[in-house]
Amino acid sequence: MEFISTRDVTLRLSASEVIKKGLSDDGGLFVPECFPTLSSEQMRALLPMSYQQRATAIMELYLSDYTHEEVEQCVNAAYSTPKFETPDIAHTVKLDNITSVCELWHGPTSAFKDMALQMLPQLLPLAIRKTGEERTVVILVATSGDTGKAALEGFRDVAGTRMVVFYPKDGVSDIQRLQMATQQGENVAVVAIDGNFDNAQSGVKALFSDRELAQRVARDGYLFSSANSINFGRLLPQIVYYFSAYCDLVNSGRLAFGDRVNFAVPTGNFGNILAGYYAMRMGLPVSRLICASNRNNVLTDFFASGTYDRNRPFYLTESPSMDILISSNLERLLFELAGRDDALVREWMSSLAERGTYSVPETVERAAQTVFYGGCCDSAGTSRAIERAYSQYGYTLDPHTAVAFAVAQDYREETGDSTQTVIMSTASPFKFSGSVLSALGRRVAADEFENLAALSELTGLHIPEPMALLQKLPVRFSDVCDKGDMERAVLDILQKK
Ligand SMILES: *Cc1c(COP(=O)(O)O)cnc(C)c1O
Repeated sequence: MEFISTRDVTLRLSASEVIKKGLSDDGGLFVPECFPTLSSEQMRALLPMSYQQRATAIMELYLSDYTHEEVEQCVNAAYSTPKFETPDIAHTVKLDNITSVCELWHGPTSAFKDMALQMLPQLLPLAIRKTGEERTVVILVATSGDTGKAALEGFRDVAGTRMVVFYPKDGVSDIQRLQMATQQGENVAVVAIDGNFDNAQSGVKALFSDRELAQRVARDGYLFSSANSINFGRLLPQIVYYFSAYCDLVNSGRLAFGDRVNFAVPTGNFGNILAGYYAMRMGLPVSRLICASNRNNVLTDFFASGTYDRNRPFYLTESPSMDILISSNLERLLFELAGRDDALVREWMSSLAERGTYSVPETVERAAQTVFYGGCCDSAGTSRAIERAYSQYGYTLDPHTAVAFAVAQDYREETGDSTQTVIMSTASPFKFSGSVLSALGRRVAADEFENLAALSELTGLHIPEPMALLQKLPVRFSDVCDKGDMERAVLDILQKK
């Protein structure tokens, strides 16, 4: 198995090179040269397996320059208890006869980002070794909240790596700030910037593309890399839980083996739902992929019209991890739907960069619509979904998952489709306890820890251990830097130690 770029199909790289590089030099995203498919026998063999065994079986199909033992070791190190609260790792819960929830947030930072960011730090050090890299990899991250903490926790004390995370000083929740400021590990640093998320992101991008800086840090034995969701090493672990959820439904009798299933996915950068599409291409019996957006509904419009247009207002919502107008991973889907025509993808992406918009031909639009349904949900709808799931099923949704719950319901009403549907749940409700309490008609306190306690009291759910401990951990990182000083901040951090 080798990898090609969505913007240059003649390129050929190994899995380890792709994981080390993250992004292709032509600006494209790495994709597998073909989709390995599972026979019915191979699918059946997954049924009795543990999550870890399923993960090994699926990921090794792509990681051809890793040995079976290496993949197995990576998987076992990534997905273990008590790092994950549940031994089944991605736990499914039945809501009614046709609806289940797959909880992807039982990892150390209570968001689904852990599913990938526990695995990537296992794969990357091996990729460094396999590609003969001798420098220390310095991972730079700009975060609006969830990614930063999950990356820090994944990479803490991972040999051969260091990490610097930048977040907007006033742009993250109290819990998210505390999660990062109290981060442990000798190889990590966290810096708040006096600016917004866009400033953090463009600052990090500027550091990546600064050749002079790259040469300067290379002399000290460092190489910059990225852990954001365009790295194939983050996409790959996400394919696993689509297969695993399917197996769990079959094993619990909710689905007959071979029956098709719908997945509803709260979507931002299109990474999670794309993994569902990849699973389908590998032979998983998927009927529809329901792409759920919040008020930033650029994808809903795309699936309805074939035109992607980011020229629109940007809204801050109570599902901040989906507040995004450029869904980077959509490029990988377009590449497949366009028959892997790299010239077309280049054309669309340059139109997006120059004019903020592009339109795909009707054939591509139709191909998208046969698999995907796009829907969106505003703030009031999100609150209603939280309230309804709680009163109807006694189940507590976080605001991101609530968007998917609402859109799945709209889809069902609109189409009459009663296919078994799995809602991909991306965050613990405790991570957004203020919004959840407010949707359930309770008072919201100024102090986040009071809200955690109130939500626990109300729902009978326990506060995830790492979140409960935050109150007691010492703050290690309190530096704030000007948005123009990010290079200086990185150099200072690398100088220490
Ligand atoms: C990142 C994130 C999403 C969006 O996932 P994508 O892969 O970017 O589409 C949804 N919900 C939560 C809680 C997240 O952290």
